[in-house]
Amino acid sequence: MKISIDEHSGFCFGVTRAIQAAESELEKGSLYCLGDIVHNGQEVARLELKGLATIDYDDLRTLPAHSRVLLRAHGEPPSTYWIAKQRGIEIIDATCPVVKKLQDRIRACYETHKNDEAIPPQIVIYGKPGHAEVIGLQGQTNNTAIVIESVDQLDRLDFTRAIYLFSQTTKSVEGFQELVSSISRRLEISTSRPVFEYHDTICRSVANRVKELQAFAQANDILIFVGGTKSSNAKVLYNHCKEANENTYFVSSADEIEDFRLKIEDIIKTNPDAKVGICGATSTPLWLMEAVSERLSAS
Ligand code: SF4
Repeated sequence: MKISIDEHSGFCFGVTRAIQAAESELEKGSLYCLGDIVHNGQEVARLELKGLATIDYDDLRTLPAHSRVLLRAHGEPPSTYWIAKQRGIEIIDATCPVVKKLQDRIRACYETHKNDEAIPPQIVIYGKPGHAEVIGLQGQTNNTAIVIESVDQLDRLDFTRAIYLFSQTTKSVEGFQELVSSISRRLEISTSRPVFEYHDTICRSVANRVKELQAFAQANDILIFVGGTKSSNAKVLYNHCKEANENTYFVSSADEIEDFRLKIEDIIKTNPDAKVGICGATSTPLWLMEAVSERLSAS
């Protein structure tokens, strides 16, 4: 069996930066992280063994003063900084600079337009409701932004009012373009012809990965996609890989290879030169893909 690991898979810049911040801050003393530092249970468990304690918003409100809390790459709404300040909590801000810039743009748009006359504008975020990054983005608008996931939800918008559209960084470029086209078509027939501004704020370290992954999927006979079950990015990328190669299997740990071992062996029986590729999402650590490779070789 020829096994290779996709060189483009693994943590994006923002996640790498947050994990490096956690590791270096853990050397100085106890550290909390608000939410899972990355949507990968195996990596969270590795850092928890080093002392990182994952907390939620309720915990944040009860932490003693001077506790140190790391904010992950997804970013947080202003209310989190406010709570920390009230409680004397030290924030270690590992918000990805790309997300931070997007938060700043949305806040600037909100501040510019919030007092617009009788017909207030709508800030629209193309994203997943409830996703940590989206909560942080909505917070920049005092939670007035409308979050939509697809064109099916466009009826929630008022096409007589101005629309300012932004995107969660990890959404698909095609989905965003489809939204822009659909909104433009609806506005063309609107008699009031309101302003429509759209900002493609999708992070290219994710968007470019789709093409790279599909090429990798096609170059292999069998594909093992390694990702966390809580990661929406992992689900999206896995589906793209499955489209490119039907022999694609999703695992979240090296042990789960055993669930597919018989299927993989059947393919190899008919094609002894079969190539097996291992790849993952932006939240998948390299060490986990290496562990999957080792388990696969140990037959
Ligand atoms: S996907 Fe892009 S925006 Fe999101 S954390 Fe990674 S580098 Fe930052």
